[in-house]
Amino acid sequence: MDCLFCKIVAGEVPSETVFEDDAVLAFRDINPQAPTHILVIPKDHVASAAELEDRHAGDLVAIFKAAAEIASAEGIAQTGYRLITNIGREAGQTVFHLHFHLIGGRPMGWPPG
Ligand code: AMP
Ligand code: ZN
Repeated sequence: MDCLFCKIVAGEVPSETVFEDDAVLAFRDINPQAPTHILVIPKDHVASAAELEDRHAGDLVAIFKAAAEIASAEGIAQTGYRLITNIGREAGQTVFHLHFHLIGGRPMGWPPG
């Protein structure tokens, strides 16, 4: 499959892994928008959060548990962080393999621009 994040899961494209288990991979974003900017993804391909099916339920729990663990390891669990998933063009989705941006380490405004 011609999917960048599937290639990262397969080890065909290098990444800076910060967490991995059977279901989840997390690696540093190549273009960080904050001191901590990590992408947390399911290893199984699904294009976006709009494409989720019942069989993905376990992956989602694993992603959110991994994100909390990573936030602690990054030292931002207490100060706070965001988990963001972009869906579609106007939201800014550029890679069509579900991913959650874990962003923290600086104050953030609301709403996003
Ligand atoms: P989105 O725009 O929500 O689809 O997010 C895609 C993210 O993937 C962007 O923040 C990019 O900086 C990031 N990205 C693209 N290619 C790579 C790569 N090879 N390794 C790590 N992050 C990447
Ligand atoms: Zn993929």
